[in-house]
Amino acid sequence: MLNVPSQSFPAPRSQQRVASGGRSKVPLKQGRSLMDWIRLTKSGKDLTGLKGRLIEVTEEELKKHNKKDDCWICIRGFVYNVSPYMEYHPGGEDELMRAAGSDGTELFDQVHRWVNYESMLKECLVGRMAIKPAVLKGMLPKSQVTDTLAKEGPSYPSYDWFQTNSLVTIAIYTKQKDINLDSIIVDHQDDSFRAETIIKDCLYLIHIGLSHEVQEDFSVRVVESVGKIEIVLKKKENTSWDFLGHPLENHNSLIPRKDTEDPYMKDSYIRKNINQRRETFIFTFNPDVVGLYYRKCQLISKENVTHDTRLFCLMLPPSTHLQVPIGQHVYLKLPITGTEIVKPYTPVSGSLLSEFKEPVLPNNKYIYFLIKIYHTGLFTPELDRLQIGDFVSVSSPEGNFKISKFQELEDLFLLAAGTGFTPMVKILNYALTDIPSLRKVKLMFFNKTEDDIIWRSQLEKLAFKDKRLDVEFVLSAPISEWNGKQGHISPALLSEFLKINLDKSKVLVCICGPVPFTEQGVRLLQDLNFSKNEIHSFTA
Ligand code: FAD
Ligand code: NAP
Repeated sequence: MLNVPSQSFPAPRSQQRVASGGRSKVPLKQGRSLMDWIRLTKSGKDLTGLKGRLIEVTEEELKKHNKKDDCWICIRGFVYNVSPYMEYHPGGEDELMRAAGSDGTELFDQVHRWVNYESMLKECLVGRMAIKPAVLKGMLPKSQVTDTLAKEGPSYPSYDWFQTNSLVTIAIYTKQKDINLDSIIVDHQDDSFRAETIIKDCLYLIHIGLSHEVQEDFSVRVVESVGKIEIVLKKKENTSWDFLGHPLENHNSLIPRKDTEDPYMKDSYIRKNINQRRETFIFTFNPDVVGLYYRKCQLISKENVTHDTRLFCLMLPPSTHLQVPIGQHVYLKLPITGTEIVKPYTPVSGSLLSEFKEPVLPNNKYIYFLIKIYHTGLFTPELDRLQIGDFVSVSSPEGNFKISKFQELEDLFLLAAGTGFTPMVKILNYALTDIPSLRKVKLMFFNKTEDDIIWRSQLEKLAFKDKRLDVEFVLSAPISEWNGKQGHISPALLSEFLKINLDKSKVLVCICGPVPFTEQGVRLLQDLNFSKNEIHSFTA
């Protein structure tokens, strides 16, 4: 059993304190957990005060509902009465009140774009805004938005298509040179074709209802030198197409991403881009559909790794191309008693060493996750109940880790606690195989007991095989026979661990674990004179 102190929730070290952007959550009163909220929404209680009636809300009306006990918020054109939700909000009442009586879309997207508020707040829905918030914010109505980008200047992305008897090729011209197969996500479902290309801090979306049927599988090629992406679709019938298809929502638009490298820079960067582009062409998007895109993946296998941690393998649909970049996470979504619940997880590789698991099918069709099951948690027990063959929705990736951090890297230090080890898996694999300049990798892995150490023997074997790798386990609650390091992250442990042989080597320290662990670690690293550029902390 997990030890969950009842006096304060979330417990100081509990998962519930992990909020996106590393924000700490506030303690919730007894009986105000997410599960309690779901129960309330199912109770049949009138949560809007409108007895199930949906109304059209004017801007003036919205403004009037700005008090805690009468608080309406607009998100993507829909208005919710969030007063009943106040005490259940993990970020606290004050944070919700920041959007009271106004359009909270931007604030919401900054903090948790991935949260499925439609499902969570469906019983609080008051109605639609009489005028769309896009217009209120000075954006342009939808009719003017579509299909304008391709006409624009030479530095903006564009697309084109061409065909042979049996194939249709969609070519995306990103005009960026650092494009690779991780930069493009393609989903083709029924007749809807969607391609998201990550270009710097924006996402360029092609979204088309294809004019003819195509086969499920397709191929994706990237010509890095010119920043061109080619998606090659196979026609079902060898006929000539007169046109590619009709534009769907947000087709041919650039959408700002929320996870740029520097959180302090991102808003101004996006604003600058929007403003620059507004001068020359319409840079906008319909905010109704900028949430993360999900596709259903099938559970292929589930293996015990420790007493409470499992390796889940999910298979992407054949009509999806998605490669999660190193250091990024996705969101998994499952319906739990009728409400869709979403939690972030960091994909890992199937193993640390190739001899442990031979990929049966191409690697890019599978996503592996190391997930700790909290028996008293909300999401993980449900995940654990999935049977082989069941489906779980997986979002597009997010995260601000950039592979460019490895350029010329000589010393890599990894500080992980518990499942905070997950981002380190791909980092380790990549660093040891693809960074010629690398001299040393040191992992310090904090756990409660020996039984909690994920992939201990793989780590030990890898360290034995590759002399550049050192692994040190630190236990906070070891049995008396343990003769390794003990305790929590501390100045003494870090200063010994982080010794660098060369004076001016290029260093990176990555840290991930429970939020307080990560925050304390970053403070200690700064005290040890590591610069901001030399530290990467994983939050959300
Ligand atoms: P929760 O419901 O959040 O519960 C967690 C703990 O809080 C449990 O111990 C539970 O008993 C306790 N608790 C819940 N309700 C109450 C209450 N009312 N009173 C007292 N205690 C309570 N995790 C992984 O395993 N693998 C990963 O790869 C991974 N990647 C992540 C990536 C990111 C970017 C982030 C932010 C987190 C990641 N996590 C990962 C953590 C993951 O997102 C979840 O937080 C975790 O799986 C717990 O979810 P849960 O709903 O099962 O538990
Ligand atoms: P855990 O088993 O509870 O803890 C692992 C180790 O960290 C234990 O030794 C524990 O010591 C120590 N620890 C916990 N809180 C600490 C603190 N405040 N200061 C110093 N040491 C502390 O960990 P877990 O249950 O696996 O949780 C892993 C965490 O990582 C979760 O919060 C998860 O959300 C997060 N995570 C984040 C990402 C990301 O990308 N952001 C990815 C994966 C996981 P004690 O014995 O004293 O508790």
